[in-house]
Amino acid sequence: MLPTKLIEEIEIPSASLGNNRKLKVIRYGKKNSGKKAYIQAGLHADEPPGFVLMHYLIKLLDEADKAQKITGEIVLVPVANPIGISQWQDGRVQGRFEFFNGINFNRNYPELTERVATLVKKKLGKDPTKNIRLIRNAQLSCLEKDRPIVDEGDFLKNTLLSMSVDADVVIDLHCDYEANLHIYTGTPLWPDAADLTAQMGARVTLLARNSGGEPFDEACSKIWWELAEILPEHPIPPACLAATIELRGITDVSHQYGKSDAANLFTFLKRRGYVRGKAPKLPRLLKDATPLEGVEQLKAKSAGVVIFRKEIGDVVKKGDIIADIVNPMAEDPAGRITYVRCQHGGLLFTKIVDRYAKPNRVIAKIAGKAPIKGKGKHLLTF
Ligand SMILES: [Zn+2]
Repeated sequence: MLPTKLIEEIEIPSASLGNNRKLKVIRYGKKNSGKKAYIQAGLHADEPPGFVLMHYLIKLLDEADKAQKITGEIVLVPVANPIGISQWQDGRVQGRFEFFNGINFNRNYPELTERVATLVKKKLGKDPTKNIRLIRNAQLSCLEKDRPIVDEGDFLKNTLLSMSVDADVVIDLHCDYEANLHIYTGTPLWPDAADLTAQMGARVTLLARNSGGEPFDEACSKIWWELAEILPEHPIPPACLAATIELRGITDVSHQYGKSDAANLFTFLKRRGYVRGKAPKLPRLLKDATPLEGVEQLKAKSAGVVIFRKEIGDVVKKGDIIADIVNPMAEDPAGRITYVRCQHGGLLFTKIVDRYAKPNRVIAKIAGKAPIKGKGKHLLTF
């Protein structure tokens, strides 16, 4: 058996004369092997830790491929957003929002549930495996129909989805500003995804059925439980384990992290049957998942400079002061510092990196066990 690695380049339609961007896709294993995993990095192109993970993961998969150990289909897109990574402004990459329209590259993915339901409802039967195949084909045909898209941002979204919606495992690699490693995934995918959390060593896993922003991972996973709800007479399992892994903070870029995170993802793939060989014993789950609705977004009430009193990973309780906001312009010395207190309690898992506050800016997030009332439909920050 020969190595299976294939490298493909997908050209994104030109948005400006003389400029053509490309997506590089690395494929291992056989198509239609019955198991497909899809992993991408840098959808938010200014979040570098995923690229380093990819560097080490490619090394591991190349070795496994040479040793003929790839047993599933594995698709990697090591740089998922060539548009965002070219957006330099004020001396740095601005890869979160598309310059052209201001839209977040990880929001507003197309919702295909109703179209797919119309296409499959008369064809579904009692066999969940057949139902999965029918639904995946319908998703792919909707995306194919939408493909003649000239806008490069929409083309990118369509292309990334076309490579991933038929996968059993979809991993989208991101990072936060200052954070510990944490994971977002679907409520119906827990505890199935607990091996991913345990292997990656995450202390925070945030669950939602619908986070409200149509991010990439949910475009792959949410359709399954939505269809199961619309068409309850047919067995429709949550067939795509899609997760967003936040690889700590924006400056947590090192060979050590890249190497160990890639090794953990590789072990996860091994345990799930994509690579032949015995996976080591699953590490202990450090913390159970909590609802995304339980995340307290700590907001500043005034302008000033933020001095945090708590560290990432601290367990905090209601009433604790998490940060001081310093305003050197206040006349009254007592008014020069205001406090930001925790209202609910939980694990502090992310902070802003630039330390500037303005009223209503979210400066930190705390993962609590219970849903917080009145969160509304939009659970993600913009
Ligand atoms: Zn991101």
